[in-house]
Amino acid sequence: MKYKCVVCEKEYENSGRCSICGSVLEEVTENLKTPVLVAKDNPGIRRIEERCIKCGRCKFICQNQVGVKYDLLKAKEAVCLYCGQCVLNCPVASLTVNYSYKKISDYLNDTEKVMVAFTAPAVRVALGEEFGVEGNVEGKMVKALKELGFDYVLDTTFGADLTIMEEASELLERLKKKENLPQFTSCCPAWVRYLEIYHPNLINNLSTCKSPISMQGAIIKSYFSEMLEIPKENIVAVAITPCTSKKYEITLPNNRDTDFVVTTSELAMMIREKELDFANLEEAEFDSIMRRGSGGGVIFGNSGGVMEACIRNLYHLITGKDPDKNLLRFKEVRGYKNVKEATIKIEDYELNLLIIHGIVNIEDVLQKIENNEVHYDFIEVMNCPGGCVGGGGQPLGVVSKQQETAEKRIALLYEEDSDLKIRSCYQNQDIIDLYKSYLGEPLSKKSLELLHTKYVDRSDILGEEAP
Ligand code: SF4
Ligand code: SF4
Ligand code: SF4
Repeated sequence: MKYKCVVCEKEYENSGRCSICGSVLEEVTENLKTPVLVAKDNPGIRRIEERCIKCGRCKFICQNQVGVKYDLLKAKEAVCLYCGQCVLNCPVASLTVNYSYKKISDYLNDTEKVMVAFTAPAVRVALGEEFGVEGNVEGKMVKALKELGFDYVLDTTFGADLTIMEEASELLERLKKKENLPQFTSCCPAWVRYLEIYHPNLINNLSTCKSPISMQGAIIKSYFSEMLEIPKENIVAVAITPCTSKKYEITLPNNRDTDFVVTTSELAMMIREKELDFANLEEAEFDSIMRRGSGGGVIFGNSGGVMEACIRNLYHLITGKDPDKNLLRFKEVRGYKNVKEATIKIEDYELNLLIIHGIVNIEDVLQKIENNEVHYDFIEVMNCPGGCVGGGGQPLGVVSKQQETAEKRIALLYEEDSDLKIRSCYQNQDIIDLYKSYLGEPLSKKSLELLHTKYVDRSDILGEEAP
């Protein structure tokens, strides 16, 4: 008879405890599989050991869809990107989101505090699934947040527009100087962490732009606080996102302006706890300051959306003209395929573009980039299936219908984009006003200070396996 530690995967001849991590050893049978290892201080997810049926599905997803591989006997700690894909795939809820919504309740009851919620586009096309309401539930979601006690409810598409103002300008600078190409998108913290751990030699290729929530958090604690004359210490900024990895992002030194991240599934819990009848709620509108973003900001939730929004702005930066209808519906970068490629010529610039969801799908490309075997100018990487619409903090659904569900959410965001009059960030009057009165211009000293970040080599986590 053989025994195995389901955490470290070390095998033993006798029963007892693992000499590495102290877990009780399991008898090896044909069906025994190992779960992912979740550290106690994991900011994104939790694992409840007693519920686990050792089906191994989480580990399969983590290794084969996300792309996390490491040797636990050599690594310094469990390697995790905090993406929550294992949570969506665990059949018995042994894995869950690391809930933080309870902590917010105290602040919601504190009259000194000004509670500001800002919601990512992928939330409004998924929240209704929790309550049997189809479609985009923006109005009901805003109303629910007001009923929960938030003083201001803002749209993170504003932060997405800001990201694109900066990221397209940064790309143009790099194209002119022919340096640090390809530029990688940086709005997915799981992807950023992957690069910092597995390919730290490429971190200069990451855009230095903070993600939309971290840009919006920074603007809320500066511009918004000054305009409304509310001391920033009294503001509690809560990002409502489809993403568990954002819970990690806001712990990083440059991203501390957002106080809490609450996922779509947590927001549904808050609504249930308050006993709100979501399906029959009236509709309400986002608050008028930093009211909303362009269509480009809306499609950030879809794989290919950041690329499309960025190309719309880049086209305007290079030509001074508005993008034509082909660029407002950039077919080649849309759709559920894991890997999409496109080329585009804008005056003298001919760009090779690559869009990937599922980090595992970029690994070969990264190795080719390191060996100068391929040339790309701009690469968008999102960890989750279909982009943030398939994030680990979205409602739990039927595993076999994950693609179908993500495709419905994707279609809803493209529909919202095409219905909007303002399709590109540089046309958004609130963004124009923010630059005019506060930031100056993209990549200005103030913009760099508030909206950009730095990356660090985290490869030592892998121990002897470090690249
Ligand atoms: S959160 Fe993501 S990276 Fe971490 S164990 Fe789960 S699937 Fe793997
Ligand atoms: S998916 Fe859930 S039940 Fe299956 S091994 Fe992982 S934690 Fe355990
Ligand atoms: S794709 Fe979106 S939801 Fe998924 S980890 Fe990245 S930022 Fe979070």
